[in-house]
Amino acid sequence: MPPFEHTADQLGKAANLVELRYILGDCHRCNLYRQRRHIVYGGGNPNADVLFVGEAPGENEDRKGEPFVGNAGELLTTIIEEELGLRREDVYITNLVKCRPPQNRDPTHDEVVKCRPFLVRQIELVGPRALVALGKFAAQTLLGSDDRISMLRGKWRNYNGIRLMPTFHPAYVLRCPTKYERLFREDIKRVLAVVLG
Ligand code: URA
Repeated sequence: MPPFEHTADQLGKAANLVELRYILGDCHRCNLYRQRRHIVYGGGNPNADVLFVGEAPGENEDRKGEPFVGNAGELLTTIIEEELGLRREDVYITNLVKCRPPQNRDPTHDEVVKCRPFLVRQIELVGPRALVALGKFAAQTLLGSDDRISMLRGKWRNYNGIRLMPTFHPAYVLRCPTKYERLFREDIKRVLAVVLG
C-alpha cells in the first residue's frame, strides 16, 4: 500500500483528535501539499456542541495554520458570539479540505475524496450535537447531494444521526451582505435551540 494510503479502519483507531492529527502527518495524499505552507487541521473545543465545517483554507489560514482567520473568519466569529452566545473557542471549526487550493480555486473531487475520511473521523471524535456546513462544498459532501446551497440551507438535515444545518459560506455572505447576512444569521439562530438542548 502506498505510504499515505489508509483505510477508514486505521483512522478509526485514532482515539482522539491529537492521534488523528498524527496519522494525517505531513500529508501527501493529494497534490495540494506541493504549494501549501501549513496543513489547516482544525481547532477549538474537542468536545464542542457545535462543529462548523468550511470549504478549504485560504491564504491567511495557509499562512497561520488555523481555520477561518481572515475576513470570512471575522464574520464567522461575530456570528458565533452574537447568535449563539458562544466564544469561538467553545465550538470546533474545521474544513472539508485541509490544505489551500492554489489561487483559492474550488477543491477537486480527488482532493475531497482523499481528505474526507479525516473530516468524518473528526466529527465522530468531537461528537457534536449539531453540525453547521458552511457553503455548498461542505453541505453537498456531507449530505451526498448535488442540490444548490440555496435549496439546502436553513432546514435541519441528518448526517449519520447528527443534526446538520447547511448555510451560506461566510465569504459568500461578505460578497453581498444586504442579501445574505440576515439569512445566514437566521440559520445560525436555529442552531441555538439545539445547543440549549
Ligand atoms: N474559507 C474556508 O472555507 N475555510 C477557511 O478556513 C477560511 C476560509
